[in-house]
Amino acid sequence: MSPVIECLRNIGIIAHIDAGKTTTTERILFYAGASHRMGNVDEGTTITDFDPEEQQRGITIYSAAISCHWKNFQINLIDTPGHVDFTAEVERSLRVLDGGVVIFSAREGVEAQSETVWRQANKYNVPRICFINKMDRIGADFFRTLLQIRDRLGATPLAMQIPIGSGSGSQPFAGIIDLVDRVALYFESTSQGTTIDRREIPAEMLDQVDEYRGQLLEQVALLDDDALALYMEHDDIPADDIRRLVRQGTLQGKFQPVFCGSSLDYVGVQPLLDAVCDYLPSPLERPPVEGINPTPRKNVPAAESRPPSSSAPFCGLVFKILSDSHGDLCFIRVYSGTLKSRSRALNPRLGKKELISQLWHIQADRREKIEMDQVEAGDIVGVIGPKDVVTGDTLCDAQHPIALESITFPEPVISMAVEPESSADRKKLGDALQTLSRQDPTFTAKINEETGQTLIWGMGELHLDVIRHRLERDFKLNVRVHKPRVSYRETIRSAQEGSGEFSRTTAGATQTARLKVRVEPFVGEEAITLVNRLKPGTVTEQLVKIIEQAILDEARGGGILGYPLMHVKISILDAEYNDLDNAEAAFQTTCVHAVREGLTNAGVVLLEPVMKLEVTTPDNFFGNIQQDLGSRRAMILGTEQRGDLQVITAEVPLSQMFGYSTQVRSLSQGRASYSMEPLKYEAAPAEVLESMLT
Ligand code: GDP
Ligand code: MG
Repeated sequence: MSPVIECLRNIGIIAHIDAGKTTTTERILFYAGASHRMGNVDEGTTITDFDPEEQQRGITIYSAAISCHWKNFQINLIDTPGHVDFTAEVERSLRVLDGGVVIFSAREGVEAQSETVWRQANKYNVPRICFINKMDRIGADFFRTLLQIRDRLGATPLAMQIPIGSGSGSQPFAGIIDLVDRVALYFESTSQGTTIDRREIPAEMLDQVDEYRGQLLEQVALLDDDALALYMEHDDIPADDIRRLVRQGTLQGKFQPVFCGSSLDYVGVQPLLDAVCDYLPSPLERPPVEGINPTPRKNVPAAESRPPSSSAPFCGLVFKILSDSHGDLCFIRVYSGTLKSRSRALNPRLGKKELISQLWHIQADRREKIEMDQVEAGDIVGVIGPKDVVTGDTLCDAQHPIALESITFPEPVISMAVEPESSADRKKLGDALQTLSRQDPTFTAKINEETGQTLIWGMGELHLDVIRHRLERDFKLNVRVHKPRVSYRETIRSAQEGSGEFSRTTAGATQTARLKVRVEPFVGEEAITLVNRLKPGTVTEQLVKIIEQAILDEARGGGILGYPLMHVKISILDAEYNDLDNAEAAFQTTCVHAVREGLTNAGVVLLEPVMKLEVTTPDNFFGNIQQDLGSRRAMILGTEQRGDLQVITAEVPLSQMFGYSTQVRSLSQGRASYSMEPLKYEAAPAEVLESMLT
């Protein structure tokens, strides 16, 4: 059974690498009773990072969903990745969560990556609370970080607590003042923070407490006339009303409550858990999910929505697939209705029913999962059974079909050849790559049957590097890799004709076949558009089919340079034959010749992927960034001022962007951030093409 929906929190912990996401998650799971021993990232024993890839790299790449309990609430933690190459994964997790906890390091403050993720969370209207962690570190500064949240993120941070001391110097970090209840909290380290000592506020802090509590009251009083009246009447606001109003303002995105602590030292985590329950939305407080009916009836609009109610028809979104030796575990966000084990659900993309055999709540580790009979609207669950689902698929009640707006993933634009070190591993490599591509929709793999070479495609350099590591460790495959390359395409320069001929003389009789085609540049729905212009009766229906297939096969095999063709139309102009005993074989040969000749005559145009780039930089590094973009063939589309930040939007060829993440950091002392996604294919400069032809 799922809990009552009001007491459900689907949250994501969002943080720059190293801010303390894993440590904080560990502490949350410990206090929330899900884990028996507390993990420690530095020893590689943490629970959420159960992907060994993460344990080694110490960064969170693949998101997992974990359930835990706090007071009357069930909290589902959805892990979010922090690296720029994994934007699609971040967006996907933002789609399925209801609220976010954004962690900052009190020492490093607001870092570039946090700006990217913060903007993505704005895009999905995700209410957030902030946790300023590492208050124990030398150089920690709560108030500076608070200002950075305001200035760098353009946010409205609302201090709910202030720290008692900071760092480890003369007035070390000792505890937290709760501004709502006006009380000092001290966390006993001998009991791993489970005992909290509530004491009076130290006298020397009273002025500071009044100042920040005053700001808090003013902010909430601004929410509406009732709040203002309450404030005027009491010259204060009762604690319960403050909490109610903070919740209201947070859900409306008016401000973001800010908390602090030190996860490593067990300080401040329980109040953060209270805040998740008090201030972040339940699934009921999120808008109904929208989708389209895949089989709409006449005169009925196809658009549909589902309320977050257990009695509505079931629908859910597959947002993550983990595979292991026991099979696939599909993570589903149930948006409406009730999903029962041992049932079936429709996958509208395939028009096919999938088996829902078991439902699991994942308690931190797959060894600690709990089987469920049913899961209700709003909850997140791991499902075993579906065979053909991929990430982004909807599953729904077959009587009430709905396809939720699918998460769109950019086409992979970078490729790399991989080969197993021993040829005995060839099949194992194929299987492993297939598994990986099901888990990660931004990754694909293909074997070139002729050369036997395996190519993998992804979104960026780090992405492919991570895949290689996973092959080696998770799948125990030693692989050799080549340099990553941009995925080029090609098209043709002009409209031309091409013909192919077949002729063979056996026993005095000559068999002939002849075919003529026209190729031309054409932007159609498909990469290659085929048109039959043969006069009726020229050849049999069956032969037409054979010819069409042979032409498509040939064209799909690639152009003159061997890259996939796009923007090409091929018309069959003429076909004739004499005395053939094997028409199929004969026409296959003529088709290959005709297409090749046409393409050669038409001339080749090399197309390269062009990315849409957005760089956010503080004013003082703007010149550096702009100048560097100029040297990368970037076309700057615009710049926009946001606070003291400049946002540059540009189009830039992917081939110029290798190593950009390092470069952008060094040009801006680590302050600028960027995001990049594939936009279109465009003709590459002549030099690039020439270098390929020679
Ligand atoms: P993540 O990359 O955001 O998941 O960060 P981790 O939780 O892996 O933490 C990164 C490093 O910071 C680890 O060495 C942690 O032990 C350390 N760390 C995390 N939280 C704190 C904290 O509150 N205080 C201090 N001093 N170190 C911390
Ligand atoms: Mg981590």
